[in-house]
Amino acid sequence: MKIKCPKCREDAVLSPDFAKVKCGTCEFDMSYGDYVEYVAHNDPTYSDILSDYAGAAGKGQSSGTLDEWD
Ligand SMILES: [Zn+2]
Repeated sequence: MKIKCPKCREDAVLSPDFAKVKCGTCEFDMSYGDYVEYVAHNDPTYSDILSDYAGAAGKGQSSGTLDEWD
């Protein structure tokens, strides 16, 4: 699925098994776990959303969907 690249803000691709995030525009290429940390560091408002998708849970809140990133 397409997600927002945290580096260049263009479309990046999240692999269907949530294992890998890769951007076709810049050199961004990380495992999903690293991506979540990267985004959380850069924009804390994303961390809740992402933790939902990562199955990390524990925060008791899901505040959005990846659809908003289009
Ligand atoms: Zn990028």
